[in-house]
Amino acid sequence: MTAQVYFVPITADESAASVDAKAVRLFDAAGFASLAEPDDLVGLKVHFGEEGNTNFIPSAWLKSIVDRFKSQGAKPFWTETSTLYAGQRANAVDHALLAHRHGYGIEDTGIPVVFSDGLIGRGEVEVALPKAGGKVVRVAEDVANMNALLVLSHATGHVAAGYGGAFKNLGMGLSSRKGKLWQHAVVQPFIDAEKCRGCGLCARHCPQDAITMTPRSGGGPRLLAAISKKACIGCGECLATCRTDAVTFDWNSESVKLQERLLEQAAGVIELLRGRMGFMNFIHRVGSLCDCAPSSPKDTLIDALGILASSDPLAIEQATIDLMNRRLGCDFHRHSHGVDFEVQFRSAEKLGLGSRDYVLIELD
Ligand code: SF4
Ligand code: SF4
Repeated sequence: MTAQVYFVPITADESAASVDAKAVRLFDAAGFASLAEPDDLVGLKVHFGEEGNTNFIPSAWLKSIVDRFKSQGAKPFWTETSTLYAGQRANAVDHALLAHRHGYGIEDTGIPVVFSDGLIGRGEVEVALPKAGGKVVRVAEDVANMNALLVLSHATGHVAAGYGGAFKNLGMGLSSRKGKLWQHAVVQPFIDAEKCRGCGLCARHCPQDAITMTPRSGGGPRLLAAISKKACIGCGECLATCRTDAVTFDWNSESVKLQERLLEQAAGVIELLRGRMGFMNFIHRVGSLCDCAPSSPKDTLIDALGILASSDPLAIEQATIDLMNRRLGCDFHRHSHGVDFEVQFRSAEKLGLGSRDYVLIELD
């Protein structure tokens, strides 16, 4: 089936008010106002950008979309989940303060930030995937309690997945901590010996007894944690409990498996909210790194191109890549860290998440 994707161009020197006006016109053209009824709780999924990142979608671009939902009597809120790794987004408190610093405070936007996976990412709901033989994925708990969801994604490159857009925003961005760990379980945790103080906290919390404390010689701590790859189930308890950030992962490996799992997690969200979701992709300040990394002007591939909207998550991803390829004059694979990001698109087709065939409807 051919999907409809709406598009409006933007430029790098355009005012926030102008982009905001275009975004809401696109929202209206895509029919997203019909997603919400009065009193509905409507999640607006965004990425607030890690500390030092300035490429995330500015909240000023989304003001009129928020007002549109409010004028219908609906109750929109920004939603996100905690990250696996240490940083300013590893728990809901630090993450809410970061969101505030990045312009997503209630006084800036008039709506609150609600973390769908609770305080430290443990809140989850299990969802069976009919198109994956009933496989169960773990989605952030309050996704199941929303009445509708608008997925607002910044198109970027990504070290592990090659490209991150709507599917990355859904699959990683709305999974519980265990759901994230499962995606990264193809990437085994290991101990950074320089950071490990030998406190044994991780070993005491490991549910599999996969961590042993081994003696080490020389000055400094007497003990070093060691993880048994055979026993480890990738639950992430060690990552969460270590106070010195000594537990880490090799984020670069096993991208194909990671992307397949990313798409299965995204399918879990779609299974919960089918027919009650809209997708908008923002192509601006596109670099080879995602918004979890600090911004660097040297990494800018596209300064500003436009905004897309569709009810079909696969069609909007395909259209985003096609537009970026056209602007770059080359295939985005040249900037994807050697990763074939189209694994995401092929997995989405297998899981019945949408269509790669689309018609692009450009607004004036
Ligand atoms: S919790 Fe961290 S510092 Fe303590 S033993 Fe485990 S890895 Fe080392
Ligand atoms: S991820 Fe879980 S099972 Fe693996 S070492 Fe850490 S706590 Fe143990």
